[in-house]
Amino acid sequence: MSSKSFILTINAGSSSVKFALFRVGQTPERVFSGKIERIGLPDSALTVTDAASGRTEREQITAADHAACAGLLIERLERKMSAADIVAVGHRVVHGGPRYSEPQRVIPEVLAELSRLSPYDPEHLPSELGLIEAFGQKFPGLPQVACFDTAFHRDMPRVARLLPIPRRYEAEGLRRYGFHGLSYEFLLDELRRIGGAAADGRVILAHLGNGASMAAVRGGKSFDTTMGFTPAAGLPMSTRSGDLDPGIVAYLANTENMTVEQFHEMVNSRSGLLGVSETSSDVRDLLAREQNDPRAAEAIALFCYQAKKWLGAYAAALGGLDTLVFAGGIGENSPEVRARICEGLEFLGIELDSARNSANEAIISKASGPVAVRVIRTDEEIQIAKSAWKVMAAAIA
Ligand code: ADP
Repeated sequence: MSSKSFILTINAGSSSVKFALFRVGQTPERVFSGKIERIGLPDSALTVTDAASGRTEREQITAADHAACAGLLIERLERKMSAADIVAVGHRVVHGGPRYSEPQRVIPEVLAELSRLSPYDPEHLPSELGLIEAFGQKFPGLPQVACFDTAFHRDMPRVARLLPIPRRYEAEGLRRYGFHGLSYEFLLDELRRIGGAAADGRVILAHLGNGASMAAVRGGKSFDTTMGFTPAAGLPMSTRSGDLDPGIVAYLANTENMTVEQFHEMVNSRSGLLGVSETSSDVRDLLAREQNDPRAAEAIALFCYQAKKWLGAYAAALGGLDTLVFAGGIGENSPEVRARICEGLEFLGIELDSARNSANEAIISKASGPVAVRVIRTDEEIQIAKSAWKVMAAAIA
């Protein structure tokens, strides 16, 4: 391997870490990708897939926490290559707070600001910081770049950002930030590549995975988005409630003595599809069970109904709709869910072609339909690599 020609990407979730190695160039080229899953559980596993051959290696590992994952990753990486070949490590960082709307080279000041922001998203930021620090300690000279999920939404109009609470909180950073920005940037770049001017029209991007959100996009910029100050807002998700009546907090505190921590845990980890179905957070499981279990059927119905409502809301906010994009594990792979979300939206110009939808084709709307409905496979890792490379190239220039 020639020197300084690779970017390593790290994408830490609450119980997983995805990573990938890219050869840098005009378009980064994936060399391998992998995942550490079930961090903190007895059956953690590490998988690595070689991009050229498609071969996947899987091994059982012990990974008590994210810091342990960093150690494991570094050790496995050193078996394959020298750290001297890496230009930079690009990290997905969920929250950039009020200050960061562009990818940042990690320097002590950035680390300090991210530590300060930890209470904004205690579920993700501390583990992301832990990984950045572990890489920094092991390879002090290796540049690291933080790529923020909030950055895509930097241009949202003020009316979409403002929260209807006492004004003074805004000065403390309480506002709608929005998330899934790396995925949205990738989807919009892809839309520009395959659909040309469509990317500058009125677009709704629906990232429906375990975390689910939508972004209304106009003129290539975020116009509104369903997630808010934290990723817990908006659509119901695998285990998150999405939007809730704020009165529920006081009600549960008064009737069950529920604490803030218990409420946080309930709305983030025990609600959404899991909460309603009482059995699974996974759409595939629920679809398989819905004939025999009304709770599974209701969980899916609730998810699709809320997604439909947001499509209507964003079509209104955008003053009409030209393109709808489905992405994420559910959006890319579930014709049933897409069909149920779009059912009855012909009045908005959304008309699915059922054969194309069943085949997960790139365009799933009828040729005559006014709105182009697309399925695009998202790729947050390549977006991290592109952003990290941009920062490094600018620093070299
Ligand atoms: P994450 O947000 O953790 O990256 P994904 O984007 O992989 O998650 O999405 C996971 C969700 O996608 C799960 O609910 C899973 O059931 C769903 N999913 C994946 N494949 C299918 C499929 N073929 N049909 C229905 N749902 C699917």
